[in-house]
Amino acid sequence: MRLVNFDGRLGLDVAGRFVDAEIASDRRIPADPMAAFEYWDALRRLSAEQTAGDAGPILVPERLGPPVPRPTQVFAIGLNYRDHAEEAGLPIPELPMVFTKFPTCLAGPTAEVPLTSDRVDWEVEQVVVIGREAEAVAKEHAWEYVAGFCVGQDVSDRKLQFASKPPQFSLGKSARAFGPIGPALVSLDEFPDPDALRLRCWVGGELMQESTTENLIFSVPELIAYVSRYCVLLPGDLIFTGTPGGVGSVREPRRYLVAGETIESEIEGIGRLSNRCVAGR
Ligand code: ZN
Repeated sequence: MRLVNFDGRLGLDVAGRFVDAEIASDRRIPADPMAAFEYWDALRRLSAEQTAGDAGPILVPERLGPPVPRPTQVFAIGLNYRDHAEEAGLPIPELPMVFTKFPTCLAGPTAEVPLTSDRVDWEVEQVVVIGREAEAVAKEHAWEYVAGFCVGQDVSDRKLQFASKPPQFSLGKSARAFGPIGPALVSLDEFPDPDALRLRCWVGGELMQESTTENLIFSVPELIAYVSRYCVLLPGDLIFTGTPGGVGSVREPRRYLVAGETIESEIEGIGRLSNRCVAGR
């Protein structure tokens, strides 16, 4: 099942067309995309009834919002790919490095990204969407708490991130539109192997990052087990799982986003975000 936020309304992506959940369910399912988790089983039934022929309007990317627009919590993981830790010249972490992206940074798959300094960087990431409340979950059971995945882009202002000590990860990665997600929330059952998703990122048409989530230092089940040991995870909460090598700030020479460039972030089986950078305040 592919859930989308189209013009602010919850629905299904059926072969590139929109099925409005509220209308198609005779108002049994609310229109708010945040209702997806409470109405998950009803959405599954609705999804099973759909055939490609009788779907609604074409899903114009520009009208898609973030599939999960108002999560209670957005966690993110630093240095969770070996090649990214190595390129940053930092040791491989022994425990997950957890920070927050404040939920107001979330944006749709084609949102413009206002640049907040001349040192704004890209980070393509797999985003895990939590499906039900999770507290002290064992690794072996962690998948039972996952609704599915989105593509995410963890836009990062390195100037602000490293402006003081300790580094200000949460602030430096939470400006307006610094967290595009989408284009759909794809349910876990759609993935033949949820531990091996190919992800790529292009900037200005140039391939910058390419890896697979097989290379995560801490896997999705390990992250859920670790975070849920200390925090209660709620339906709709997000975990940005970290970025592979190839970010701009550690390239030779260094490279940062400039206004007019487009960041394209893709995960096989989910889709692609296309976010144009614009001049900020
Ligand atoms: Zn990141």
